[in-house]
Amino acid sequence: MIGDGMGFNHLEATKQAYDLDSLNMEDVVVKGESKTNSLFGVTTDSAAGGTALSSGIRTFNGMISTYGLDPLRVFATPKSVTEVAIEQGKATGVVTTDYTSGATPSSFSAHTFSRDNDKDITEQQLASDIDLVWGGYNGLATADVVSAAGRTYIGSATDLANFDGETKSFGQFDFDDMKYVTNNYDTPSIEFMTEKAIDVLSKDEDGFFLMVEGACIDKHSHSNDLENMIKSTYEFDKAVGAALEFAEEDGETLVIITADHETGGLKYNAEKDEYYYTSGSHTNVNVPLYMNKNDAGFVNGAAYRNSHVSAQVGLILGAEEGKYPCAR
Ligand SMILES: [Zn+2]
Repeated sequence: MIGDGMGFNHLEATKQAYDLDSLNMEDVVVKGESKTNSLFGVTTDSAAGGTALSSGIRTFNGMISTYGLDPLRVFATPKSVTEVAIEQGKATGVVTTDYTSGATPSSFSAHTFSRDNDKDITEQQLASDIDLVWGGYNGLATADVVSAAGRTYIGSATDLANFDGETKSFGQFDFDDMKYVTNNYDTPSIEFMTEKAIDVLSKDEDGFFLMVEGACIDKHSHSNDLENMIKSTYEFDKAVGAALEFAEEDGETLVIITADHETGGLKYNAEKDEYYYTSGSHTNVNVPLYMNKNDAGFVNGAAYRNSHVSAQVGLILGAEEGKYPCAR
């Protein structure tokens, strides 16, 4: 569960606005931090941040699950945790409130040297073994294109509710509805997408891997729109609540909640008792790294490199140590 751009103060501002003692994501046993820089200590963008969380490596900004230190672009790409899960026979899914070819979902479902390669990304996603990719309509994965790829096209919340999960699917929903938490075009909430994805993927007896991104925490922070950022964080937290509820019943599911970076340099003014933005871009402060299990290799209160998170998840999913790149 990735809250794009979600720093600690984004959580505090959301609790203040909704008058909550704690968020669903805070109701977990391990609460640590992720160190979010991209390669060579640069403040990360969502492509390198997503790559660190998907593929066990830090890379250059703009790159989607590809090695930064491969300037000739001739070597094999790193393996993502999604691909490790597929190798292990698990069901997999990528769900986002960004466009489906956005930097974060792409990092978990494609390999390409630029986050702007939307066409390449969409083609890779459609051809992949990933069971479901659901997010904002990008004009590329039309109903015809999706059907030609042998997948079920899901174009609305009604379609999603009626989807039986028997086939691979591709979901395309109204981006503005997801961004502003409105519902003008029969658009599913991130909570519903998460519940449905879990419902579909958990039928696989080998288990599943699902990445869910709350993308618009970042987008509203870029424009310093506190009100809509808070709405987006609250919506994302409801999705986390759905995942934690499943995990509680299931007993064998690890839920990791984190962010790729902080956006907006959100600070607290004690005198006015309010949160305010100090930046229109990403910062490199540590972000939450929370999880519902204390036996997943992460210690309460500790801070980890972002790339360590995915390396550890890869091992948990069944990757052999030493087989894949692993930044400790
Ligand atoms: Zn981001």
